[in-house]
Amino acid sequence: MVRAAATYTLGSIAGVISLLAGLSAAADRPIPGDNVAAPIEGALCGCPPFPEIPFGRRPSYLPGNTLVLTFDDGPDLVNTPKVLDVLARESVQATFFLNTESWTSLRENAVARAIVRRIVEEGHSLANHTAHHLRISRLPPEKIEQEIAEVEIVVREILGSEAPRLTLFRAPFGDPYVGHRWGPTFRKVAPIVARHAVHVGWNIAPTERVCPSGAGLCVLASTRRQLDRGAYGVVLLHSTKAETAAGLPAIIAEARRRGMRFLSVEDAVRARYQRSSAELVDDPRCHGGG
Ligand SMILES: [Zn+2]
Repeated sequence: MVRAAATYTLGSIAGVISLLAGLSAAADRPIPGDNVAAPIEGALCGCPPFPEIPFGRRPSYLPGNTLVLTFDDGPDLVNTPKVLDVLARESVQATFFLNTESWTSLRENAVARAIVRRIVEEGHSLANHTAHHLRISRLPPEKIEQEIAEVEIVVREILGSEAPRLTLFRAPFGDPYVGHRWGPTFRKVAPIVARHAVHVGWNIAPTERVCPSGAGLCVLASTRRQLDRGAYGVVLLHSTKAETAAGLPAIIAEARRRGMRFLSVEDAVRARYQRSSAELVDDPRCHGGG
């Protein structure tokens, strides 16, 4: 399975390099498809405040035939392994936004910890979705910091010196990155997140919650409707859902039938900012936003 992921990486790397080279000019222009202007103004001067992959159906810094698979929540013990099986079979790389104390306890459950190791071994990316999946906009700053740091600590416990830095983050429910933008709540949360990670929104969100358990065709149909409307970019899915695991092979097949290519979240960050997420996190100019 490691070999499958590696094959994907090698097979796509030339394409990604040429893609990113071609994108550098595009990323310097304003982004009409995005719903916030401030980070792009920052990007132009090399100091983006609160770097993020924002929401909106058509991220102009990515080509229109791009999909980026992301899986939130989990890991759970049943469906996350099935999702990994599909990704290995199809040689597609994804990013998993983990909770440490939500579906399972990553401090205590050895099987769940093994799934985290498997995610990394098979060439996928780990990212942070907070410890307990709370609405962080409602928490005091010290608790927000704790919710983010705990995931970093537990992942380091599981993977030791091999642990990747978790420089990609998605707030549970996208809150407050969807909605209260640049208000007091956003200004409370965003500087704390920016010291740890780039916030990753989504461009396509199949409506898994309305699909009956295991109904993969329902998730496929929802994805197809959004692709038909011209959406592309980061896809929000949940590795804990039986219907998502069931529908994933057809979703990948549908994307390939449309000539779409799979990139990673890190590819999207580089396309938008010409820097890696770690470089953005390590730049104090990205933490304040003025
Ligand atoms: Zn979630």
